[in-house]
Amino acid sequence: MAVTMEKIVSLCKRRGFIFQSSDIYGGINACYDYGPLGVELKNNVKSFWWRSMVYAHENVVGLDAAILMHPRVWEASGHVAGFSDPLVDCKVCKQRFREDEIDPEKLQVKQCPKCGNKNALTDARQFNLMFKTSMGPVEEKGSEVYLRPETAQGIYVNYRNVLDSSRQKIPFGIAQIGKAFRNEITPGNFIFRTREFEQMEMQYFVKPGDDLEAFEMWKERRKAWYTALGIKADNLRFHEHGKDELAHYAKAAFDIEYNYPIGWKELEGVHNRTDFDLSRHQEYSGKDLTYFEEATRERFLPYIVETSAGVDRTVLTCLVDAYEEQQLDSEMRTVLHLSPAVAPVKAAVFPLVKKDGMPEIALKITEDLKKDLLVFYDAGGAVGRRYRRQDEAGTPYCITVDSQTLEDETVTIRDRDTMEQERFPMKGIKQEIMRRIQNRSQ
Ligand SMILES: [Zn+2]
Repeated sequence: MAVTMEKIVSLCKRRGFIFQSSDIYGGINACYDYGPLGVELKNNVKSFWWRSMVYAHENVVGLDAAILMHPRVWEASGHVAGFSDPLVDCKVCKQRFREDEIDPEKLQVKQCPKCGNKNALTDARQFNLMFKTSMGPVEEKGSEVYLRPETAQGIYVNYRNVLDSSRQKIPFGIAQIGKAFRNEITPGNFIFRTREFEQMEMQYFVKPGDDLEAFEMWKERRKAWYTALGIKADNLRFHEHGKDELAHYAKAAFDIEYNYPIGWKELEGVHNRTDFDLSRHQEYSGKDLTYFEEATRERFLPYIVETSAGVDRTVLTCLVDAYEEQQLDSEMRTVLHLSPAVAPVKAAVFPLVKKDGMPEIALKITEDLKKDLLVFYDAGGAVGRRYRRQDEAGTPYCITVDSQTLEDETVTIRDRDTMEQERFPMKGIKQEIMRRIQNRSQ
């Protein structure tokens, strides 16, 4: 049975992955909150990214820059002048639209796509997508700051600091995870496009001329990252930006696309940004940002290859890719085949029945496991129903204490995907769960 966005939204609410923000007040458009399971999934995705980008590469280091930056940053980056959408208003129903999303025939006669009135649309005005706020107690010109629309600029303005303090040599990368904000006119499709979102970006500084090779390397590594994350390879593809799609700063750009229920859409962008960013910051700040290469005695402004992914979009991708409804003999089961590396709860522990000392043994196992893993103890209801609840939460393993446990100190481990159960000695249960999680995380 095909997965739909509605099914994902419903599961997310039911099981506590993702809620509408400010729900009790009727919600706020395109803002979402991560619940108990969602925050675990999200943190695990971020940690998986951080480990494979920073820990796995000697020449990639981390950074956590502030959301608020000097206003000149956004002039240098081109966001003040160019980060805008053309908007038109309907004079009758007061609705606002992106001009480039209106049917050209309707636009011709200035017909409103909502109320249908002709000659109702205003001329297009440029609407900047940056959220503006003011800094300090007085709201006046000069105290205006922006909520960053991308995390990348925090990396560019720290490139010199990192270089001078970390003993890195070109080529090297700076990785960062953080919030960004865009006042999108048409957000939507759940957490696919939101106004507040989190980015996982890495900027790789290379010698001009080495940029093509670095670009190819990161393209392949980033696609491989998604399959390591457990995403099905058939649902991933590259999309190369044509000349008309390329951003003003980019020499080449590839999207890694995913086959969502709403069609193939961008999951991550890999861009060759050339020396555009550093040359602009050099110009606007008046600081020398060139690099001196000892070996060749050459001085140059580095090129940048960027890998830019969204945390929220990756979480959505994990959920969509993992979702399955299976028809069993007597019932339907909904299961999330999440990779154990990112699954919120790693194991659930059940006493088969609430007597004969089984709960006590199960609680003891839980106590031991929870020092290293997020585990869940559940003694409520029929064991079949408890398995179903964990299937929906994506929990890879369920450990059950039964009457045989009382005789020989073994328990069963049930695999979420195969639903098969095996007996293991209670003593080595933690090592067994850790071993399985590690095996399947690679
Ligand atoms: Zn209208």
